[in-house]
Amino acid sequence: MHGRFRSALCRRAQHVQSRRIGRMTQIELVLGDITAQEVDVVVNAANSSLLGGGGVDGAIHRKGGPEILAACRALRAGHYGRGLGVGQAVATTAGRLPARWVVHTVGPVWSAEQDRSELLADCHRNALRVAEGLGARTVAFPAISTGVYRWPVASAAAIAVASVAGFAGVVRFVLFDQAAFDAYAEVASR
Ligand code: ADP
Repeated sequence: MHGRFRSALCRRAQHVQSRRIGRMTQIELVLGDITAQEVDVVVNAANSSLLGGGGVDGAIHRKGGPEILAACRALRAGHYGRGLGVGQAVATTAGRLPARWVVHTVGPVWSAEQDRSELLADCHRNALRVAEGLGARTVAFPAISTGVYRWPVASAAAIAVASVAGFAGVVRFVLFDQAAFDAYAEVASR
């Protein structure tokens, strides 16, 4: 179905695939809702305000409950008085999500005029650095920047998969629709 993409898990479900990259990193692709993932860290595609938004951010706050927003407000009152910069990452409680932490990161808005790929890679690298500091071994990412921020999903997938290589653990990309899943599967099969 997806070229040479091999999977033990896909025998169980067509919408879950798994692959090792390098010695350290296990990549999983899941078609589904990131708020349902039982992982150490759920990465949030937040905005700079850290005070909630739509898309995956809204879903995380809705399902995780007010504790996450309270933690974000505390960040704004402290070290993050100006908000979180594009490409940066910071952790909070996961509230009622079946995860231990939420790591918030701010993706770049897509631009046809300017190459912002490094910023999108920074989101992934910095989120994993924060996760690693917490001792996390399983980290779920949404397709950062591919919603309201309009990044073409094939390009976002290539940047995302390349930038998580080297993490010592499982990186699970949780894709919300079939087109995003197929784009990530295409990249991961290379
Ligand atoms: P951004 O502003 O970074 O583009 P969005 O939240 O608008 O963030 O979209 C990022 C991606 O998250 C999109 O591909 C969107 O379909 C997806 N998404 C939205 N809700 C969920 C969810 N509950 N679980 C996983 N992915 C989601």
